[in-house]
Amino acid sequence: MSRSGPAPGRVVNERRERVDVVIVGGGISGLCAAYWLAQQGFGVKVLERDAEVGGTMKSVHEQGFLSETGPNSALETTPLFRELVDECGISDEFLYANPVGKNRYILRDGRMHALPLDPAAFLMTKLFSARGKFRLLKEPFVGRGTGEESIAEFVSRRVGQEFLDYAIDPFVAGVFAGRPESLSVQASFPKLYALEKKYGGLVRGMIRGRRERKQRAEKAKDRAESFSFAGGMQVLPRAIATKLGHAVLTNARVEAIRRTDPSSFSVTYTHGDVPGTIDCRSVVISAPAYGAADLLQPLSGEAASVLRSITYSPVTSMVLGFKKEEVGHPLDGFGVLIPTKERRDILGCLWSSSLFPYRAPEGMVALTAFVGGARQPELTQLPENKLCDLVLNELKKIMQVSGKLVYLRVTTWKQAIPQYELGYLRKIEALDRFEESRPGLFLCGNYRGGISVGDCVKSASEVSQRAARHLRTHASPARG
Ligand SMILES: Cc1cc2nc3c(=O)[nH]c(=O)nc-3n(C[C@H](O)[C@H](O)[C@H](O)COP(=O)(O)OP(=O)(O)OC[C@H]3O[C@@H](n4cnc5c(N)ncnc54)[C@H](O)[C@@H]3O)c2cc1C
Repeated sequence: MSRSGPAPGRVVNERRERVDVVIVGGGISGLCAAYWLAQQGFGVKVLERDAEVGGTMKSVHEQGFLSETGPNSALETTPLFRELVDECGISDEFLYANPVGKNRYILRDGRMHALPLDPAAFLMTKLFSARGKFRLLKEPFVGRGTGEESIAEFVSRRVGQEFLDYAIDPFVAGVFAGRPESLSVQASFPKLYALEKKYGGLVRGMIRGRRERKQRAEKAKDRAESFSFAGGMQVLPRAIATKLGHAVLTNARVEAIRRTDPSSFSVTYTHGDVPGTIDCRSVVISAPAYGAADLLQPLSGEAASVLRSITYSPVTSMVLGFKKEEVGHPLDGFGVLIPTKERRDILGCLWSSSLFPYRAPEGMVALTAFVGGARQPELTQLPENKLCDLVLNELKKIMQVSGKLVYLRVTTWKQAIPQYELGYLRKIEALDRFEESRPGLFLCGNYRGGISVGDCVKSASEVSQRAARHLRTHASPARG
């Protein structure tokens, strides 16, 4: 018989240890922060609630298929990825996406159109009408906006409604599983917004911004290459955890964080039946905002309520396997995104086995369809068989899938992606103030600084630097 806790009256030996810094959460954000702190000589401990590290980055191998339950790939927007890959010894697993992945399709009037990649293709494409294309030419002459705007307001003001409907709306669904009407452009796409603020327009800004990024050795998201690993995205968090060794404890749920004196904390957790306490000088919370809220409630009701006010869109990701000859479309690209205006039951579909090898057995293809988001959250609550019928129906119409399903893996994330809604920057400012007022406590994760894997890695690097500064300037290192 399995037990859910210690038997009444049974004495359980509590673990007690001391490190410099405890990291709550072993997703990519927490692991990277821990890795860079450990590299600087600090004693770290990562406590992860799940049985495995990776958070939303989970790769499942079954029946010859490789399913990603979260990210299918990441964009190489920062040199930090290469450093991690080399240092963790996983360069032989690293894979750039098949060049065919440069083709990205968007559905319009029930047909797939390749997103134009150069000016000539832009002139020829049927994705935008002649009127829509002409409207783009006016962009350099549009004045600056005032105050906070939604992505929809910003894009329609600068480049017109059609570009919003058939380029940005599907893109926002693909990245945030969100709606451009609800999300703040300043918070969601700060670099896009900065082009207007700094240079007065998008076209002018893109040209000048490219030069500046080159100097920083960074790449814009539209030019960065997609990558993954032979064994899937989870290879990266697993390799970082292996490097960290005993500093990572899985099945360890953090229950409370207490400040014991002005420069120390105690973190209590349960590891199976066994309670544990770690004394430390700093804590990095890299759990999702709602989880961080619960932990911070006793320390600051205000910070907890700000974190709790961050909404997450739900997403169901479905990996579907078919025989190759039973899919009519050549699947010659990254996949297809669906604009709201098309009124479909999927947000988009990635052609996973076209992008990377080892995603499907010989003679089969693997597709990853996404359902729900802020657009249709109710769909994520459907029973699996209904959801499957709905998705198969769409795949039949959009990419001529005719055969029977040979493989299926459904994952529903009830709180998948934080929505950087209007008013979001004020929330982030409140969290910045909270951090300043509680030296030694740091917040990191995809609700701060961008949701992509690359953004999480960059944010983790910044937080590790701030935490290292704190540790160096406050008292001597604790013994690990
Ligand atoms: C379906 C989906 C598809 C995506 N696709 C892409 C993509 O293609 N490309 C891309 O760049 N990004 C993509 N993303 C976004 C990206 O994957 C995430 O933003 C990123 O992985 C988040 O990492 P994180 O470490 O901040 O959070 P998480 O991965 O959520 O990790 C947080 C960790 O904290 C742990 N935790 C929580 N509470 C506690 C506690 N009390 N004690 C101990 N541990 C705790 C959790 O178990 C979890 O492991 C996708 C996201 C989703 C959901």
